[in-house]
Order: sequence, then C-alpha cells, then structure tokens
Amino acid sequence: MPFTALLLNASVAFTGFYLISKLYHSDRFGSFRFRGFLIGLMTGGLGLFLMMNAVQANEEVRVDLRYLPLVLLAFYGARFPLLIATVIIASTRFLFGLTDQAVVAFIATFVIGVGMWWIHRHVHRLLLQSMLLHVWALVITSISILINLGWNTAYVEIVLTFWVVGLLVGTLASLLAIDLEQMTRRSKEYKHSAERDHLTGLFNRRMWEERTTSLVSERRAYNVLALDIDHFKHVNDTYGHPNGDLVLKRFAELLKVETRAHDVVARIGGEEFVILIYDLSPEKVVKVAERIRERIAVEAFVLSDGTSIRISTSIGIAHGSALPVESMSSIADSALYEAKDKGRNRTVVRRANAHMLVPN
Ligand code: GH3
Ligand code: MG
Ligand code: MG
Repeated sequence: MPFTALLLNASVAFTGFYLISKLYHSDRFGSFRFRGFLIGLMTGGLGLFLMMNAVQANEEVRVDLRYLPLVLLAFYGARFPLLIATVIIASTRFLFGLTDQAVVAFIATFVIGVGMWWIHRHVHRLLLQSMLLHVWALVITSISILINLGWNTAYVEIVLTFWVVGLLVGTLASLLAIDLEQMTRRSKEYKHSAERDHLTGLFNRRMWEERTTSLVSERRAYNVLALDIDHFKHVNDTYGHPNGDLVLKRFAELLKVETRAHDVVARIGGEEFVILIYDLSPEKVVKVAERIRERIAVEAFVLSDGTSIRISTSIGIAHGSALPVESMSSIADSALYEAKDKGRNRTVVRRANAHMLVPN
C-alpha cells in the first residue's frame, strides 16, 4: 500500500528532521566545518534510509521521500551540509542497481539540490520558501518518475499519492522548522540581553561576576582595570543625557578596539567600566592602560548635532595573582580614586598582596 508506506517513511523523516535541527542549532561543536560535515552526513544517511524503504512502483521504479531531508538544509541555508547530503543521496541511488532509472534519479537529485539553493536565496518569506522547496522537489521527482515509468494509470496513481503525502509532510515539516528556528532565535536574544549592557553591548555586571568568580582558584596573575570618565556630569549637564549616552557608546567601542578579544570588558555602572586582563606584568598592563587613556583623550566624541567634544578618563589598576576578584576590584577602585585625586586623566597601578585582602 504506497500511501501507508510513504506515510510511515514520512514519520521517520520527521524524527530525523528534529534531530538534524537540534544539531544545527547546537553550540556544542567547536568547529563550524565539523558540525556542517556531521549534519550533511546525518541528512545523507536519513535520505539513504528513506531510499532503502522505498515503495516499489514496478520492477524498476522506486518511489521514496529522499528529497525531504534536503528541504530542511536548504531552508536553513546550510550550503555545505546540503552539498554533502545531495552527493550522498544522489550517489547511493546506484547501490540499488546500475540502471537507467538510477541515472535519472541521480541527475534529478542534483537538479533538486541546486534549485532548492536558488529558492532559498530568492524567496525570503519563511513559510512560502519552505512550501516552494517542497513543491520544487515534488515537481522534479514527478518528472523523473514520468521519464522512468511513462504516462499510464500506475504513474498517475503513484504521483498523486506522492503529492498528497509530500504536501502533508511538507507542511508539517515547514511548521516544525520555522518553530525551531524562531525558538532558537528568541532564546539567543534573551541570553544576549541577560548578559549584555543594553546601551553599550558590553558585558553587564552579572556577566562580569560570572566571568571572574573562578579567578582565585585559577592561580593565574591577572589585572583588574577600573575606569571612570572624568567630569561626566558636566557632559550630561552641558549637552544633555542623550548626548551623554552617545559618548558612553563610543567610549565602550574604543575599549573594545583597544583590548584583545579574550580580555573581559564590562560596564558595571553609569560611566564606570572594568577590564580583566590576564597575565600581563604591571609594567605591561600600565602600557595598555595608557594606550587606552591616550586614545580616549585624543578621540573626537561626536554628538547628535554633529559637533564633537573631548573627554578624559582615569584608570586604576590592581595587579595580583590568586586573589579573589572582589579584593582586586576594591584595590583597583582605590587606585582609581588616587588617580582622580591627583588631577584625573591618569593611570595608577597597585600590586595587590594577600595582606590587602578585603574581609568578607
Ligand atoms: P569624576 O571625574 O569625579 O568621575 O566626575 P563625574 O562628573 O564623572 O562624577 P561621577 O563619576 O560621580 O558621575 C557620574 C555621572 O554619570 C552621573 C550621571 O548623571 C551620569 N550617568 C550615569 N549613568 C548614565 C547613563 O546611562 N547615561 C548618561 N548619559 N549618564 C549617566
Ligand atoms: Mg562615576
Ligand atoms: Mg566620573
């Protein structure tokens, strides 16, 4: 019974879809290429499974839903996995016999793959795109069955069944893929807004604490830089709060530009920022801080009306090792106050020792 057999295949495809989608959205695989390769392999394997469970239309012609997994990859725009899966599905067709039908099916699979890529690139409405991907695959497969089977009652019957099952499963699969896509996007957005300061995009205080709690047990030397913009109230009072915000945003960008990717930069208060820098000696970390301070001092901060202003920042540094971050932060803070006292726009560094520990 072709209808039941195809429907059973569709359920297997559906389960495979879910697993492939999970893998696609997973962050666990370090290498992007490796994950892509794995997804391609899994999808190709699913296609092969569907082929193995094909419905035999006559002695030579087999009908199956091998194109279904390809739709998912095209929908996600996963070009590399799509290529791998297409090659696997097209070539393993020959395992079922080196026949003319296999050659037609081989070519059809590539036509489906390429066409799907085109649809993904040109149709941007998700549901429409997904449905077109299915229809494209159904059209090409119907043509290839026609070439193999010729126009007769058997052809009409098998193709009608094929379209009914294909569209049914296609619609469900499209809804599943869109749902998973939106859920993943939303959870990424929530994660981002929980970790980041909304104004500058830097880490917020919560993330700073998360990134720094284990420092004491790591037993590495590290530096905490505390930065506070000089006379920032004056900026707000003279140019208005929105302009103050523009200055803060640019200030944060400059901190990112002047630090390395693995330094942790966070905004922990209104115009108070902290930077964690591992390993550098006090002499070297002062050089980094001075580079940041000078960069801030020479920058023209552009305001909303196009005019620009200059600002400066004071920096306090604590250098130590195997000390809790709370102690290091408070030492950096007191170095910062010293820098303010001495006239601002300067850097003060302190070596933190165990006897400077702040009692809990
Ligand atoms: P000092 O040199 O001693 O640091 O002087 P200051 O004027 O910068 O003094 P302080 O650091 O105490 O001032 C902080 C000011 O930052 C006060 C507040 O109005 C402003 N501020 C805090 N958060 C924001 C913010 O999100 N946006 C803007 N525009 N201003 C903020
Ligand atoms: Mg302040
Ligand atoms: Mg200030």
